[in-house]
Amino acid sequence: MLQHRHLLGIEGLSKAEITTILDLAELYAKQNRSANKHSKVLSGMTQVNMFFEASTRTQASFEIAGKRLGADVMNMQMSASSITKGETLIDTAMTLNAMHPDLLVVRHPHSGAVALLAEKVNCAVLNAGDGRHEHPTQALLDALTIRRAKGRLHRLTIAICGDIAHSRVARSNLLLLGKMENRVRLIGPRSLMPSGIEQLGVEVTDDMAAGLAGADVVMMLRLQKERMDGGFIPSEREYYHRWGLDAAKLAHAKPDAIVMHPGPMNRGVEIDGVLADDINRSVIQEQVEMGVAVRMAVMDLLARGLRAKDDTGVMV
Ligand code: ASP
Repeated sequence: MLQHRHLLGIEGLSKAEITTILDLAELYAKQNRSANKHSKVLSGMTQVNMFFEASTRTQASFEIAGKRLGADVMNMQMSASSITKGETLIDTAMTLNAMHPDLLVVRHPHSGAVALLAEKVNCAVLNAGDGRHEHPTQALLDALTIRRAKGRLHRLTIAICGDIAHSRVARSNLLLLGKMENRVRLIGPRSLMPSGIEQLGVEVTDDMAAGLAGADVVMMLRLQKERMDGGFIPSEREYYHRWGLDAAKLAHAKPDAIVMHPGPMNRGVEIDGVLADDINRSVIQEQVEMGVAVRMAVMDLLARGLRAKDDTGVMV
């Protein structure tokens, strides 16, 4: 069981908790490949997915995960809901509260909005991405993918490349990979690198060849244009030339280095399309597969906490 009511970020998770989640997710990954994918772990529980920002993979993944665990799952169409009529986030939360959901999965464009909501509702809240802050289930699914491909999740050299400044995926990943004692290198243009990031114990460079040298894992990120005001790069063509991953740049990494991308992918901007589809190097599809397993594991563990509270009246 987790020592938390919510999953708001990697920041509050211990190394042992991360391992517990990944070990359980491993079992769900196996179950998801079998003919019977269903269990009753969340039966009787209601899961509400509230996405205030567009999502393809994450929303579908949480929905499938909840259904496979036997929950009643509801997707709220936030653009079509009261939010466009001026209702505040807190009002929305109070309305939801009255319907007694058990699990609330939230994505929001503002950093910190999900934590604020968690203070106001009675259920367990899962952060499905808040602004440029955190995307914990993405980092957990990336960790599981790496552990399966490399056989371990420590003492690896992991290069995270691209738009670090606007990426919640980068932030959650560097926190998780650091906790598990890996060497993390951030590569990208200076304009897309948060100042002072070195203080988090990562190496920083704007040179792809130097950054990729000896890497076991190469994680590419999308240019988050929706979070940029103004020009951060000279042009997409120039960006691809210097920071886009192709076979020639990947040759600087270890010969068995794996290539990752959280999606959605911009082929020809941050990654070469042929390389992204190369099943000998790219684990992008496996990341999607592990996403369902990790979300099942996290919801299972949070639900155990909820049930324990039901039995004793206190959160243990
Ligand atoms: N899907 C990821 C996120 O929501 C990555 C991205 O959008 O680039 O942060």
